[in-house]
Amino acid sequence: MTQEEILELVRQEESQTHERKRSLSLQREGFESLCGMVNADPAQGTLVFGVAPDSQLVGVEPGDLDKAQRSLSQTISANFEPRLQFEVQVAELQGKRVVLVSAQRNRDVPYHEYDGRAYIREGTVTRQLSFTEKKSLERRRNRDLHTGPWKCNKCGSWVGNLVSVRITDQGMQKSYACSCGGEYWPAN
Ligand SMILES: [Zn+2]
Repeated sequence: MTQEEILELVRQEESQTHERKRSLSLQREGFESLCGMVNADPAQGTLVFGVAPDSQLVGVEPGDLDKAQRSLSQTISANFEPRLQFEVQVAELQGKRVVLVSAQRNRDVPYHEYDGRAYIREGTVTRQLSFTEKKSLERRRNRDLHTGPWKCNKCGSWVGNLVSVRITDQGMQKSYACSCGGEYWPAN
């Protein structure tokens, strides 16, 4: 992201895909929100440290930001399960330093857990997912558990059921291939 894009993002109100935290000491709350954002349907989110809830650019605590950046990356790698795709960036805006974390969920991951718990974000509110909700997300997003309908990611065609299998050296496997060359994914 360029400096301009970061400034633009920092000015945004909190939303379904954007959360801000005043200080790096609020990592835990921040990562719970990030987990909630990637688990919601947009499957992505950005978290910025150094901005107050009222939009004021306050900057993160002074100190070694390279070290802070490494430490954030390690915390994310160690505590998100399955592994999260993310990027950590440090930027200086109007003399204040902000740290930006952006992340996304791959389509083949039904949901991520942070520190053993799964979260979901609804608007600007993040809450924990119940066991039943986790099961329901799995049925909706895990291709091996989903029962239909399906939608091709290339030609857009819909089908109710997928019964095709392919024979591999590991035996028979469900096939998600569409005749157009695309792949079928759960249609919501
Ligand atoms: Zn297709």
